[in-house]
Amino acid sequence: MRITHWIGGKAWTGLAQRTGDVYDPATGQVTGRVDFASAADVDEAVAAAAEAFTRWRHASLAQRANVMFAFRELLHKRRTELAEFITAEHGKVLSDAAGEIQRALESVEFACGIPQLLKGGFSENASTKVDVYSIQQPLGVVGVISPFNFPAMVPLWFVPNAIACGNTVVLKPSEKDPSAANFLAELFADAGLPDGVLNVVHGDKEAVDRLLEHRSVRAISFVGSTPVARYVYETGTRNGKRVQALGGAKNHMVVLPDADLDLAADAAVSAGFGSAGERCMAISVVVAVDPVGDELVNKISERIAGLRVGDGRRPGCVMGPLVTGAHRDKVRAYLDAGRSAGAKLVVDGRGHPVDGDHAGFWLGPTLFDHVGADMSIYTDEIFGPVLSVVRVPSYDAAVDLVNTNPYGNGTAIFTSDGGAARRYQNEVEVGMVGVNVPIPVPVSYYSFGGWKDSLFGDSHAYGPHGVHFYTRAKVVTSRWLDPADRGVNLGFPQNT
Ligand code: NAD
Repeated sequence: MRITHWIGGKAWTGLAQRTGDVYDPATGQVTGRVDFASAADVDEAVAAAAEAFTRWRHASLAQRANVMFAFRELLHKRRTELAEFITAEHGKVLSDAAGEIQRALESVEFACGIPQLLKGGFSENASTKVDVYSIQQPLGVVGVISPFNFPAMVPLWFVPNAIACGNTVVLKPSEKDPSAANFLAELFADAGLPDGVLNVVHGDKEAVDRLLEHRSVRAISFVGSTPVARYVYETGTRNGKRVQALGGAKNHMVVLPDADLDLAADAAVSAGFGSAGERCMAISVVVAVDPVGDELVNKISERIAGLRVGDGRRPGCVMGPLVTGAHRDKVRAYLDAGRSAGAKLVVDGRGHPVDGDHAGFWLGPTLFDHVGADMSIYTDEIFGPVLSVVRVPSYDAAVDLVNTNPYGNGTAIFTSDGGAARRYQNEVEVGMVGVNVPIPVPVSYYSFGGWKDSLFGDSHAYGPHGVHFYTRAKVVTSRWLDPADRGVNLGFPQNT
């Protein structure tokens, strides 16, 4: 199957010079070939978006809200179909794909409230017969660059707010699972979005680089790994663009001695191995505060043994394959690296039974204990089903470990002590904190973002930060003079 760009409201008909293979990770088979955009192809998409912007920026708030409501209904109606696309190219199990779409729907629902969100302030008589008011206007063409791990949700963190604010968009999704983006673009068209307001270009660095340098692109929303996020932020801002670039993660779950260890073990397994650990909010480090280590590791191991790994379309499977063979091999290499570094390999995922085609990109859930902060299994974002337990002697040592880590996306604390939880949320240098909640992804009317190397820029994604990011403020000072008030006055305007 050929997967191509969506430009100006229709599928692209050109001939791509470069293409990439798209796999079904559960069978290891190539199922599609995606066109890679050249710089000229990106220019075509940006031109379509720039042209559409001349009209879309004038679309009434009522019209924009109507499109969002219609899109929300279509997405809800066709969510099963979209989940199937996601599972077929990403590998996550169908129920997990459905969960991704449910969270995406929340972002769309937030954008349905755009008339309320764009209300400015009005000060009558700020000075005598002078009124002052603020308005928020769109930026123009916005580039959205998204990762493989949430092929529907991450684009929908950005696209609804961007277009509801009156911008037009060029979306460059991951080349590994590109079909969801086209599905969304067609759904937006069915919802009444005018041609050119949302465009999709597929590809790799070449397409991203062109978006980063194109003069007509005013802002970039990026989500991906930290080295690329840093590069996108530095290059985009150097070219005068507004940039928010969300990067990678190493999320710690601190378990205090007074925690309910069954609850903590359930949470560690769910958040560590859901989506095969390919979530930026996955728990990859459990910080066991003495003396809970032995008991907690036993409880986690018992639960791992019961996980059914296999083809995400088969009933009962809770964890699917990794996204590509290359990624699986990279993750698998950490098992030997961790053992050589001296960590204890408690559960070796290579031996886990699999309910799926032998050629799929499988690796079962893996657990390391006695992990040291200098080992690569701790310092690197593995982005796979590998959970590390680090043992520390005290709460203070736990906070120190988390705060010293360069990443700061999400974290969780498990405890029965409200005071300790409150102290943790205050002291920890991480953007999203869960108290007895392992994956604290904020609801859509808050915003999503990490600290430190997990986010470059000063705006978080979606929610109120999203509306702020996609608009620029204008303040109008207005006076309607009576004939008696006229006259030349060279003094600096005073408010009287
Ligand atoms: P990635 O960085 O490899 O790719 C992300 C996007 O950038 C893709 O569209 C890709 O085509 C493009 N890209 C890749 N290399 C590039 C380069 N050298 N120059 C320009 N563009 C490039 O990330 P991925 O493997 O697709 O996704 C997984 C990563 O995303 C993980 O690190 C994960 O933590 C992170 N992530 C972060 C969040 C968050 O909100 N912080 C959310 C989801 C995923």
